[in-house]
Amino acid sequence: MKVFSIVGNRPQFIKSGPMSLALRDRGVEEIVVHTGQHYDRELSEIFFSELDLSRPAYELDLRTADPTRIEDALAEPIATEQPDWVLVYGDTNSTLAGARAAGDTSVAHVEAGLRSGDLEMPEERNRIEVDRRSALLLTPDERSKDVLETEAVSGRIEVVGDVMADANRRFAPIAREHSTILQELRLEPGAYAVATVHREANVRPGRLGHILEGLSRVSGPVIFPAHPRAREVIASNRLLLGTNLALVAPQGYLDFAALASQARVILTDSGGLQKEAYWYGVPCVTLRPSTEWKDTVELGANTLVDDDPEAIAEAAAKVRISAERPPLYGDGHAAERIADLLVSL
Ligand code: UDP
Repeated sequence: MKVFSIVGNRPQFIKSGPMSLALRDRGVEEIVVHTGQHYDRELSEIFFSELDLSRPAYELDLRTADPTRIEDALAEPIATEQPDWVLVYGDTNSTLAGARAAGDTSVAHVEAGLRSGDLEMPEERNRIEVDRRSALLLTPDERSKDVLETEAVSGRIEVVGDVMADANRRFAPIAREHSTILQELRLEPGAYAVATVHREANVRPGRLGHILEGLSRVSGPVIFPAHPRAREVIASNRLLLGTNLALVAPQGYLDFAALASQARVILTDSGGLQKEAYWYGVPCVTLRPSTEWKDTVELGANTLVDDDPEAIAEAAAKVRISAERPPLYGDGHAAERIADLLVSL
C-alpha cells in the first residue's frame, strides 16, 4: 500500500503530522510531496523541525499558487510512484492541483464537505471541485456529510473527525509548558488579543486598512503575527497601525498555540484558527462575511464581522464562549480512522 500525500501550505504541514504517524504505525508507505506553495521559513521549514515531520520525498519548491503550474509539476512524481491513493488536505491551490494531477489514481480528501457558501472565495471553489473528484471523502462532522449527500458526489463519504484536532490535542499542552513567548512579548494570560489575516480578499489594501483600523480600536494589546502577504501590503501602502497593535513574525506552531490558547479573544480570517479558538475556549471574531465552520457561530463562540472597524471592536468586546460548550469536530483520532480506511478499501 502506497499513499502519495500532497502538502504545500502551513495548515497542511500541521494536518499531515498526525496522518504520517498513523500511516507509519500501520506499515503504509507514504511518499510526501511539498509543492512549495508556502516557502518562507516561518510558514514552512519551522513546522517540519518543530512537529518532527519526515522530510518530503519530493520538494518541488515551486513558489507559486498557480494551480496549473502545481498540477504540471505533480504529474511526473505521481506517474513514477504509481501510488494506491493520492491524499490531499483542505482547500488550497495545492489541494486542487493534487486532485487534478491524480488522473486515474483514487483521491482521498481530508476535510471534505466544508462550505462557506461564498463562491467568491477561491477556497470555496477548490473545495467543491476537489470533492467532485475524490473517491474517498473524509469529513470532520455530520454536517459536512449532509452537504456532500445533497451535492450527490460520487465518492464514498466517511465522517472521521478533524485531523487538526489530532494535532492540537497532541501539541497544545506541550506548547503551553515549553513556550516562553508570553514572557518574551511581556504578556499576561487573558490580557491581550491575537489577530491573523491572510485571505486573498482581506489583504487588498482597502479591506486590510479597515481591518487594521478595527484591530486598533480593540482594547488592550493585539498581537498580530503577520503573514508575509499582509506585511507586504501594509508596508507598500503605508497602512496605519494603532499603538496597541504589535506586528510580529509568523510564529511556529508551538509558540502560536501558547499565544492563541491564552488570549482573551482571537480575531482572524483563518479557517483552522476558528476551530482552535473553540478547542482552547477562547472566543473568536471572524474577519469574514461567511465561514465554513458554522457550528462555532451557531454556538455563540464565534462572531462574523466582515471588515467594518466599529463592528470588529464591538464584537471583540462582546464575544463570549461558554465553559459548557459541546465538543466539536472529533475526538483527536481522525488520522487513525483515515489510515484504517485507506488500508481497508
Ligand atoms: N498558525 C501558526 N503560526 C501563526 C499563525 C497560525 O502556527 O503565526 C497556525 C494555526 O495555529 C493553525 C494554522 O496555522 O493551526 C492555520 O493556518 P492558516 O491560517 O495559514 O490557514 P487556514 O486554516 O486558514 O487554511
